[in-house]
Amino acid sequence: MNRLCRSREAIVHNEPGVTRDRTYQNGFWGDREFKIVDTGGLVFDDDSEFLPEIREQAILALEEASVAIVIVDGQQGMTASDEAIADWLRPHPCKTLVAVNKCESPEQGLAMAAEFWKLGLGEPSPISAIHGAGTGDLLDRVISLLPPKEHQVEEAEPIQMAIVGRPNVGKSSLLNSICGESRAIVSSIRGTTRDTIDTRIERHQKIWKLIDTAGIRRRRSVNYGPEFFGINRSFKAIQRCDVCILVIDALDGVTEQDQRLAGRIEEDGRACVVVVNKWDAVEKDSHTMPMMEKELRSKLYFLDWATMIFTSALTGQRVDSIFALATVAVEQHRRRVTTSVVNEVLKEALSWRSPPTTRGGRQGRLYYGTQVASKPPSFTLFVNEPKLFGETYRRYIERQLREGLGFDGTPLKLFWRGKQQRDAERDLAKQQNRS
Ligand code: GDP
Repeated sequence: MNRLCRSREAIVHNEPGVTRDRTYQNGFWGDREFKIVDTGGLVFDDDSEFLPEIREQAILALEEASVAIVIVDGQQGMTASDEAIADWLRPHPCKTLVAVNKCESPEQGLAMAAEFWKLGLGEPSPISAIHGAGTGDLLDRVISLLPPKEHQVEEAEPIQMAIVGRPNVGKSSLLNSICGESRAIVSSIRGTTRDTIDTRIERHQKIWKLIDTAGIRRRRSVNYGPEFFGINRSFKAIQRCDVCILVIDALDGVTEQDQRLAGRIEEDGRACVVVVNKWDAVEKDSHTMPMMEKELRSKLYFLDWATMIFTSALTGQRVDSIFALATVAVEQHRRRVTTSVVNEVLKEALSWRSPPTTRGGRQGRLYYGTQVASKPPSFTLFVNEPKLFGETYRRYIERQLREGLGFDGTPLKLFWRGKQQRDAERDLAKQQNRS
């Protein structure tokens, strides 16, 4: 898989079944782009842990695929398992190629590959995944079997979404509810803690990449190391995403751990939707939701810009709305506003409330502002002296920017730049020009 996609995303490990689940990678050959789906090792004569789920995943992968490549081990020669896989695949309508791996030597490779004619899946291709021999020919054959180019669906850049939250808040249940099919294997295999798995799905005419779903799924009976579900794994997922789904347990309310995750989302400048899950288990009347929202928000005050939604992964209530809210959050996160609009809002804000004055009579002056970046939207505000603008006034300006410009679901970054700082920067630039 790495050889065909020229990347190192899938882990290479000598343990059978280590790549459980489906992992997707993008590849290209000539002018064709394609996606390769990797499945776990197929074993048919054994129903022990995970193997039936791996088979189920392979069936789902085949249903989406235009071409299947069966990889066999040329050095080992044909085995009963290879025959079992061929028997299983033969009735399937998907076009199939046999790649005979570990054929490092081209001459011997042909001889090694010849044995696999017996599988009845057509001409075997000798390849070496490690050295790259034969993979070009294999890709030529793959491309020749793909549907004509005009039928290829153009795919926009996927939106990266991370589902984070404490253990047991219902992340894996939500993931299953979201995916709607058994794409999420809710079990995993020991020894794969380094592996991160992303799941792709299409919702609301957009492609979403759910980040590190391996860190979400798991099986209670397996004893994972603390690092697997640890906060660092969540922090990494937050770092990689565009939008974060922070899952809170409606029965427990906001805990200190939730606050740490929330703090990180804000610090890292990620868009966010707060999902309060297990709503079905809450005894409620018509006042419960607004009251609970108020209480939760008081503890999640640094995410006051994030939309909150009450869901049940168990019944599916409002689960699909997560994508609608995430879409808004992502759009706002990417939005840019012209300088003139920013300054209209600032002018209005200044006229309602002037910047504070010190006891010595010095008053803060806000000259103008401009959006300098997006993801998250970031603004530089040019002032006489940043020190003159206390926390309260800074928050007031941020609130006014939000009121005037929207930005629901995304944090904003405000940089206050003083005249002295600007002068120093200008002097530095001048000196650099001279030298
Ligand atoms: P994770 O550790 O965050 O992935 O949580 P799980 O998805 O494994 O769920 C933990 C427990 O909460 C399981 O027993 C689930 O059945 C239960 N659970 C998850 N979502 C809901 C929900 O919406 N309502 C109720 N009542 N229980 C839920």
